[in-house]
Amino acid sequence: MDYSILVNKDNPLPRASIPTDLVDAGSLYKDNIKIDRTVKEEFDKLKTLASQYGYHIDIESGYRDYDYQEKIYNHLLEEKGFSYAITRIAEPGKSEHQTGLAIDFCVYDNGKCYIEHEIEDLPVTKWIHQNAHRYGFILRYPEGKEDITKYSYEPWHLRYVGDIASYIYNHNLTLEEYKNSLLK
Ligand SMILES: [Zn+2]
Repeated sequence: MDYSILVNKDNPLPRASIPTDLVDAGSLYKDNIKIDRTVKEEFDKLKTLASQYGYHIDIESGYRDYDYQEKIYNHLLEEKGFSYAITRIAEPGKSEHQTGLAIDFCVYDNGKCYIEHEIEDLPVTKWIHQNAHRYGFILRYPEGKEDITKYSYEPWHLRYVGDIASYIYNHNLTLEEYKNSLLK
């Protein structure tokens, strides 16, 4: 498995691309979420460390197949129009969630679970952004890099990239910039 695989609007996956080693994410938020086996192992470590700081996180979304992405993209397209949909949800084949390496995390607080923009200003979210790289994750769609990633800021979306995560974090790069730097 190439943990540094770049999937974006210019680098789509075919419909038939299915990860080979998916496992149940063990999420208490939602049943039947699947993710790559290594991603689960590393996320569990991050989750355990976070809990030692009093932060409780879980997985809200993991692997999504091509057909599912097609369904949610078309739904948003119909509801909100093209220019809204295109910056918020990947077209089928262009979502990292199809790799099994992407996670949307959620935050438990006082028995309630917070997702997506609800977690934006929480201390736990900042902590995750600063520490996730220790277990191979990067914040994939950071604030201020929208022109490069072609996505709005997504404070909840983590991407497992393995060993290169700390380098990417310390140099304040996106995966696009990291990949480009290798070509030079
Ligand atoms: Zn996501």
